[in-house]
Order: sequence, then C-alpha cells, then structure tokens
Amino acid sequence: MKIGALEAGGTKMVCAVGNENGEIFEQVSIPTETPDITMPKLIEYFTGKGIVALGIGCFGPVCLDKKSPKYGHITSTPKLAWRDYDIVGAFKRALNIPIGFDTDVNGSALGEATFGCAKGLPNVLYLTIGTGIGAGIFVEGNLLHGNLHPEAGHIPLRRHPDDKYEGCCPYHLDCFEGLASGPAIEGRYKTSAKNLADEPRVWEMEAYYIAQALVTYILTLAPHKIILGGGVMHQEQIFGYVRRFVREMLAGYIDTPEIADINNYIVPAGLKDDQGIIGALVLGRDAYGADNQQM
Ligand code: ADP
Ligand code: ZN
Repeated sequence: MKIGALEAGGTKMVCAVGNENGEIFEQVSIPTETPDITMPKLIEYFTGKGIVALGIGCFGPVCLDKKSPKYGHITSTPKLAWRDYDIVGAFKRALNIPIGFDTDVNGSALGEATFGCAKGLPNVLYLTIGTGIGAGIFVEGNLLHGNLHPEAGHIPLRRHPDDKYEGCCPYHLDCFEGLASGPAIEGRYKTSAKNLADEPRVWEMEAYYIAQALVTYILTLAPHKIILGGGVMHQEQIFGYVRRFVREMLAGYIDTPEIADINNYIVPAGLKDDQGIIGALVLGRDAYGADNQQM
C-alpha cells in the first residue's frame, strides 16, 4: 500500500511516498513560499503516484477540530500568506483520498511511538527545540488535541538567577520558547548558537530551562518516554545536564523504573531526522484505516 507523507514546515516542505510499515521509498524537499507557488508543486508531486492516503504533519497553529468549519486550516500563523489557509481542503480537492492531519510535533511523537524509540509505549512526549519550541503529546495511545492542541513550548518558567535576557517570545517574552529556543540563545549571546558549542555555561542554562519544562510535563502527563529533537538538541552535551537537573528538580518524588533509568527515559529521536516524515506517513495510514472502517 503506497501512502503519501508531507512534513509541512515554515521553511521547507518535505514530501515522501512510503508504506504502512514506515518505509520511505522516495522523498523530496520543496521550499515553502506562498500557497499559490508552493501548493501546485506539492500536488504535482503526489499526483499519479498511486497513493491511497496522505498524512500531513503541519506547522501551526492549525485547526484539528473535525466539527469546526476551519478543520484542516492553518490558523493564526505569523507566516501571513498561509494564515487561514485550508491546506487539507486543497489536497482533498486535488487528490480525493483520505487525509490525516495534525501538528508537526504530534506527527513526530506518533512516528516515534509507532516505529521509533518509543515503539509500543502508550504515553510519549516529543519536544522540539529549534526556531520555536513545541511538544507532540501521545496519551494512552492517542495524540492529544484537546481545545486547539497543546502549546507546551509557551509555558512560564522560573528564571535562571544569572539570566538577564528579556526573552524573545512575541506573546509572552520570557516563556519557555522565549528563553530557550534557538533564537533566544542567539539573542542572549549575540552570536549563532552553533558558535557556542565550547561554552558549557550556555548549555547548562539551556538545560536548566528544558529540565523545568520536562518536570512539568512529567508531573502532568506522566509520559513513559521523552524524546528531545530540533536544531538546538544537536548540542548533545545538553542531554547530560537535562537528565541531572530533572532528577534534582523531581527530588525523588517520582520513583519509577523509567526515571531511575533516566539515560533511556530522556533520549534523542530514534528515527534520527525522519521522525516527522515517518509520523506523517502514520497519519496517512491511520486516515486510510479510519476511512475504510466507516464504509
Ligand atoms: P525549525 O525549528 O525551523 O524547524 P531546527 O529544528 O533546525 O528548525 O532549528 C533551528 C534552530 O536550531 C536555529 O535557531 C539554530 O540556531 C539552532 N541550531 C541548529 N543547529 C544547531 C547546533 N548545531 N547547535 C545549536 N543550535 C543549533
Ligand atoms: Zn510564548
């Protein structure tokens, strides 16, 4: 069974064709411009490939409420050309196949929970720390949508005592994303994050913020595994600090075998950089399954 997958990002659109076992047969990347320019290219890619469904993991915010007339739209994105754009409707009209749709981070969580390092686990949290911070949340075997969808990158945090940076979130200034995203690191130190690789204090402060957020997620969502991805996590030194701070901040209160084995609890993505596109494939597979159950 051939399935289409689209990882729709603010800078690039990754398109692939694969199967229900998470195998990718072919993949291309198309720059994200305006819908007028980019959508025909995406539709052309998927047309004539024999795919039975399409899964889309999309940058957001997006509307995931199937009862809403806005279902399948990208909503209040700062990328103005895509604001209120009906991306699911456009593909549905062009391809006329079942379409699975979710946030990019929920897609990544689903990819890891289905084929990656969290395979078979019912509760999984996937956090990306890149240009923005976002969490995909898989709870009791389902992706969490709720009211809108989780925006766990914008939680308030306690400031590091040495941190004088005002923060860069356009809404909250010094929320998690405002203090710990790639642009926050660059705003604080006035240089590219990559240039700071040899500055342990930078990554220790970064880990202090990530660990606080993880403690909140551990206490509220009780995940069986936490996966950290995104450009900033290329600094692998962050993992050691995060694991140590999480244990210190939990202070022995959560006493599970998973927390005791923290090196296997807080981990990098098992699918390397393919968790997003493989997650989109699973969204497509599940949409196909749901459609055929209804018939
Ligand atoms: P996006 O979030 O736009 O999808 P990424 O996840 O690649 O993209 O995140 C990009 C951010 O990650 C940039 O702000 C950049 O500074 C940061 N970044 C990328 N590579 C590294 C690195 N090796 N070390 C630290 N930060 C990095
Ligand atoms: Zn914010």
